[in-house]
Amino acid sequence: MIHKANWEQLTNELNAAGATLIAVSKTKPATDIMELYQLGQRHFGENYVQELVDKQAVLPSDIHWHFIGHLQSNKIKYIAPFVHLIHAVDSTKLLQEISKQAAKNNRTIDVLLQMYIADEDTKFGMEEAEIFGLLEHVAAQPEQFANIRICGLMGMASNTDNEAQIRSEFARLNNFFQHLAETTFFAKPYFALKSIGMSADYKLALAEGGNMVRVGSMLFGSR
Ligand SMILES: *Cc1c(COP(=O)(O)O)cnc(C)c1O
Repeated sequence: MIHKANWEQLTNELNAAGATLIAVSKTKPATDIMELYQLGQRHFGENYVQELVDKQAVLPSDIHWHFIGHLQSNKIKYIAPFVHLIHAVDSTKLLQEISKQAAKNNRTIDVLLQMYIADEDTKFGMEEAEIFGLLEHVAAQPEQFANIRICGLMGMASNTDNEAQIRSEFARLNNFFQHLAETTFFAKPYFALKSIGMSADYKLALAEGGNMVRVGSMLFGSR
């Protein structure tokens, strides 16, 4: 069962803000995805490779599939033929492997770099310095990254009720994004995405410059 009224409200809010909704369907059945699809939703996010592959095989081919979970190098090959955007790239090695698998499929795969912004040990991501290191590697060895495009940043705020803290974590990502966008690395039109915000904090994410939100439980119910 999906929450149709929530989808309508969220879609209006995001359209007004110029932001894209990724409906996070992990653990939910294909029938739920079809219900949202029939309302017009086309971007869906999944966290597990096998689950994504199984769903992609049975659902309409014009769905844009986003991989938003922690991706292991040895599993890229299963999603490389069709994935629309990989959100959580957190190492140079992973990025290199994505480019390799994209080349095997004669395509370019769009990715986001996951920036560590939470005040917790449990979330994946890179610190600013690691991101600079990755970008220097890409600039120095462009042939190893010929089949990827870095389209922006992704982040997850701390799981807290403290709104000021969440806002400042999102603001940190937005500031770093602006900094990168102004450097020669990314004077590129496609470096444009800030994937921040989930069911609990998407309003704060929009207020702090987010233009892509990943919302699950608000649309599909709790997991
Ligand atoms: C599950 C998940 C979401 C969606 O979370 P909700 O609280 O259900 O909206 C967003 N982003 C990532 C990375 C997730 O794993």
